[in-house]
Amino acid sequence: MRCANIGGRFVILNGTESIDVAEASSGQFGPDPLAVLDRWQEFLQWAREVNRDSRTPVAGHAFGPPIPHPRQVFAIGLNYGAHAAEANIDPPAAPAVFTKFPASITGPDAVVALPATGTADWEVELVVVIGAEARNVSAAAAWNHVAGFTVGQDLSERQRQMVGPVPQFSLGKSYEGFTPIGPELVTLDELEDPTDLAIECRLNGDVVQVGRTSDLIFDVPSLIEHLSAVLTLLPGDLIFTGTPAGVGVARTPPVYLQPGDVLVSTIEGIGEISQQFRRA
Ligand code: ZN
Repeated sequence: MRCANIGGRFVILNGTESIDVAEASSGQFGPDPLAVLDRWQEFLQWAREVNRDSRTPVAGHAFGPPIPHPRQVFAIGLNYGAHAAEANIDPPAAPAVFTKFPASITGPDAVVALPATGTADWEVELVVVIGAEARNVSAAAAWNHVAGFTVGQDLSERQRQMVGPVPQFSLGKSYEGFTPIGPELVTLDELEDPTDLAIECRLNGDVVQVGRTSDLIFDVPSLIEHLSAVLTLLPGDLIFTGTPAGVGVARTPPVYLQPGDVLVSTIEGIGEISQQFRRA
């Protein structure tokens, strides 16, 4: 199943049409996406039998972030070998975790203001959406706690991220609009192999990042095991799983996002988000 947020309402997508979950369920579910995620198994059951006649055409650029207000957002640094190498850091022995504060979340077509520092960078990432509470979950059982995937950009202001005396990953990656996600929440049964998806990022039409999610150092189940050993993961929580090689800061000379740039991030079988940038 493919779901989305249109105008703050959770919908099921059916080709170019959508079914409003709150309307079709006569208020049993939704319209708030997080409220649907809170009852994800019940919703899946209902969705199997929903009358698909009440469909509305989806207008272009109509989508908001599929989960606009998650309670927690986890993000993993240096989770692809080639990206760790370009950062001149040994691959970590355990996941390197930070947060992108939820107020930085925006939709898949958002125009994003660039901080005046001029050192904002791109990081395309596979984003996991949690579908059931997870506490002390083993990797073997972890997929049962996943609602699906979406596409995300871990936009990063490198100057603040790397400022001393200790790096400020969470704040540097949480400027207004620095967490675009979408366009759809895609359940795993839609994907031929959820553990091996092509992932790509293009800047003004040029491919700048390309990889496969099978190259993750810590895969999705081990991330859920690692995080849920510390605290409870809640429905609707997001996990940004890390970015492949090809970020701007690692280039010689470094390349940063400029006003007018267009950044397109794509994951096979999930979809594509597109950001344009402007001066703050
Ligand atoms: Zn990242």
